[in-house]
Amino acid sequence: MWFFSAEEKELQLVCRDFASKELAPVAEKHDHEESFNLSAFKKMGELGILGITADPEYGGAGLGATASTIVMEEFGKACAGSTLSYLAHSILCVNNIQNNGSPEQKAKYLPKLISGEHIGCMGMSEPEYGSDAVGIQTKARKTEKGYEITGTKMWITNAQYADIAYVYTRTGEERKNLSTFIVEKGTPGFHVGKPIHKMGMRSSPTGELVFDKAQVASSQLVGKEGDSIYHMMKNLDIERITIAGISLGIAQACVDQCIKYSMERKQFGKHIGNYQLIQKMIAEMATETEMMRAFLYSVAKEYDRGVRGPTVAAMVKLQIPKMATKIALDAIQLHGGYGYSREFPLERMMRDNKLNEIGAGTNEVMIMIIAKNLLKEMRD
Ligand SMILES: Cc1cc2nc3c(=O)[nH]c(=O)nc-3n(C[C@H](O)[C@H](O)[C@H](O)COP(=O)(O)OP(=O)(O)OC[C@H]3O[C@@H](n4cnc5c(N)ncnc54)[C@H](O)[C@@H]3O)c2cc1C
Repeated sequence: MWFFSAEEKELQLVCRDFASKELAPVAEKHDHEESFNLSAFKKMGELGILGITADPEYGGAGLGATASTIVMEEFGKACAGSTLSYLAHSILCVNNIQNNGSPEQKAKYLPKLISGEHIGCMGMSEPEYGSDAVGIQTKARKTEKGYEITGTKMWITNAQYADIAYVYTRTGEERKNLSTFIVEKGTPGFHVGKPIHKMGMRSSPTGELVFDKAQVASSQLVGKEGDSIYHMMKNLDIERITIAGISLGIAQACVDQCIKYSMERKQFGKHIGNYQLIQKMIAEMATETEMMRAFLYSVAKEYDRGVRGPTVAAMVKLQIPKMATKIALDAIQLHGGYGYSREFPLERMMRDNKLNEIGAGTNEVMIMIIAKNLLKEMRD
């Protein structure tokens, strides 16, 4: 994009190169085996991007939503599953500790999370509370020694590999009484539940976090009791912008693959790229992808400048994953039977992208947020 800084352009090239070497060649294998690309994750630490938004004093890169979205786009082109795990670590866990943790918590947890020695996850969703995240029922009860946490978190990206979990709990009867704890692997009363098998994002591990009277010290509380509703809402904005970056990467990869294939595949004696129906498909998907890119990065830049927040973050999260699913389906169509087969990455990209219409808030929830905010602005 013309408005990327020199640093962002450099980051784009470095991530593109990394993705082509470390993610793309094994994406199919990890999808098929439903396994996590741990070695690539560790190398992301060496690349300096696991704490992309964190302060340099903790080893972070000190960058913002635009830079994070660039990483998501470049990695998303190669392996969306690995990118989702990267997002859960860097945006859901590290960025939350960076923004809401005390100096002691940051000094204790960020350096190892940023070097890649530790892996992070974030537990908000529960078996009975997904879209209604503020309704969560995992309870943290104050005790003489600290807090006792009881409840189950569901759908947690990186659960099985996480050393550190950033966990939302309820500390009062009112809906807004939410508090967060940093919970370490090995905490008494805390364990990881069963893995969840999925249609897509199969290289990103997903599981449950189970708290059975887990004993947590008061020093693990993030901020003050009851602060977390603000933390939750604020982090969801950058989560929605960056997850849309994964979909942008998927869409671009589909366009690139379609152009290549239309110049290779011959039917009726000519490359299929000669046929206007194929040209129309390519022209439309490439145009839509450019629109997505312009929209997404302008929103990310505005977010970094503190200009606009929740409404536009919900808009990119609504529109870009939805358009990318359509593009991935068209890409399959353009490839005919080969597109439907596992010989090409398109069916994986379509399966992976569908998650982006659900995770970080469903399409329906995005519509609710956008409409509610626009009507409120008009009333005010
Ligand atoms: C692969 C994967 C990874 C995930 N990673 C994480 C993670 O790391 N951490 C975490 O905390 N969560 C994670 N999630 C959870 C994710 O955020 C939730 O799945 C999502 O918010 C939707 O919640 P739900 O699945 O309970 O669906 P529900 O909320 O039960 O929704 C079911 C349907 O009802 C619709 N709906 C709900 N309310 C309304 C309404 N008021 N009006 C109209 N329609 C409505 C929804 O749009 C949806 O279509 C992950 C999920 C998946 C699948």
